[in-house]
Amino acid sequence: MSKSSVLVLENFIGGKFVSCQRHVDSYDPSTGEVYCQVPDSGPEEVDAAVAAAKQAFPDWSSRSPEQRAQVLNKLADLMEQNLEKLAQAESRDQGKTVTFARTVDIPRSVHNFRFFASSVFHHLSDCSLMDHLSCLNYTQRCPVGVAGLISPWNLPLYLLTWKVAPAIAAGNTVVAKPSEMTSVTAWMLCQLMQEAGVPPGVVNMVFGTGPRAGDALVGHPDVPLISFTGSTATAQRITERSAPYCKKLSLELGGKNPAVIFADADLERCIETTVRSSFSNQGEICLCTSRIYVERSIYSEFLHKFVSAAKRWKTGAPSDPSNNNGALISKEHLEKVRSFVALAKSEGAVIHCGEGVDPLVLPEPNRSGYFMPATVISGVSDTSRVMQEEIFGPVTCISPFDSEDEAVSRANGVRYGLSATVWSTDVGKVHRVAQRIQAGLVWTNCWLVRDLNLPFGGMKNSGVGREGGKDSFNFFTEVKTIAIKH
Ligand code: NAD
Repeated sequence: MSKSSVLVLENFIGGKFVSCQRHVDSYDPSTGEVYCQVPDSGPEEVDAAVAAAKQAFPDWSSRSPEQRAQVLNKLADLMEQNLEKLAQAESRDQGKTVTFARTVDIPRSVHNFRFFASSVFHHLSDCSLMDHLSCLNYTQRCPVGVAGLISPWNLPLYLLTWKVAPAIAAGNTVVAKPSEMTSVTAWMLCQLMQEAGVPPGVVNMVFGTGPRAGDALVGHPDVPLISFTGSTATAQRITERSAPYCKKLSLELGGKNPAVIFADADLERCIETTVRSSFSNQGEICLCTSRIYVERSIYSEFLHKFVSAAKRWKTGAPSDPSNNNGALISKEHLEKVRSFVALAKSEGAVIHCGEGVDPLVLPEPNRSGYFMPATVISGVSDTSRVMQEEIFGPVTCISPFDSEDEAVSRANGVRYGLSATVWSTDVGKVHRVAQRIQAGLVWTNCWLVRDLNLPFGGMKNSGVGREGGKDSFNFFTEVKTIAIKH
């Protein structure tokens, strides 16, 4: 950390911290103040990082999975020892509550390394014996080379490590570019990587903006694969930019996730979970619920109870453990989220609670922060931009439905297909509806229960490819089939 009160970050290239000539400001969303300067890297810095990663590749990729796993586990241990520091930094950088960072972001980031350190032993080869032809076939999964990893600001360390861990466990080397708005925990991770004995050049971190650093990484001829998590609009640019090089792409994108709630649902559990699924992390999780379809016979009761629960979902200073939500990531994002509420209002919708209704009582230092309370809207048409576009804030819309077919068709009536929740105590209905919903993940009677072995990703405009367990290794390796005849 620099001596002045503003933290100045450096890139991490070839195992060393390297300062950058240019910087961009990074804000503490809970105060609106600049507290950190992030390198504004461009093609030159990306070139240096790719060269370091290329140089490290032959040694790292020829190490055994056991040797690589040892390094990953050591890094996980060090992250765990620094959990509190990382949680405080993540909260300050992103605006989320310290409690959320302490209980979700950082523990899950630690788990990413432990999980991929162990699963690397199980997914790197298959074998088949063709007795009648005296032939043994087997596959070998080989690391691809230098992986370019680009991650967003909503779950900064978690989504970065979700990519770094499988990439290096499989033997690749990495150049990562975290979001310019939330780079601090990635920079802290570099310090821990030095301590953990990650060899120089295996993981390089180039900080900066998408149009400069991100673009240079995507367009680099020596980076054959890109794993990207972020918005659909950026993914479209990345797809075009990487097309001339035929790069392998994994794209984890936005969502407009529905909840379908039938009259026979366990209402208490459903409301408690759906408030969480709508508003957790300020609604800044790609898997958050933003459209709630409720069977008409319970609609009024649901709306009343849901709004009461949303009003109890507290927003305020991220350090206060009694708050459920902190600040949104930026002033621009807050304005964008508010503009959707204004649009809903102008279209005649009812704003039951939230923006413009509940004035926040904030401690003095937080008065210029980017806060917005949990907002519940009803009376919006399915064709409205409010129901079609990803808002990515603490805003959810509720609407009644009359039949199972109608609920499925409306749930599917957007360009996204990331996740959905279905609520019913009728097992047959739960299976029927889950199978008809166009989404990469459907949770029934729960939300955010994740087994990292299982595929994660979206249909339609929510993504291309899957990550998680075997799928991550499939992406971060090339498979070769070898046939041996005797
Ligand atoms: P974003 O697309 O603006 O930025 C994501 C990353 O891409 C950042 O690091 C950014 O600097 C970089 N980037 C921007 N322009 C680029 C370019 N031209 N070339 C290369 N890189 C570029 O997204 P965001 O606002 O940071 O994140 C929010 C979005 O991420 C939401 O749409 C959310 O749904 C999505 N998201 C998806 C998942 C998922 O797993 N499906 C998870 C989290 C967030």
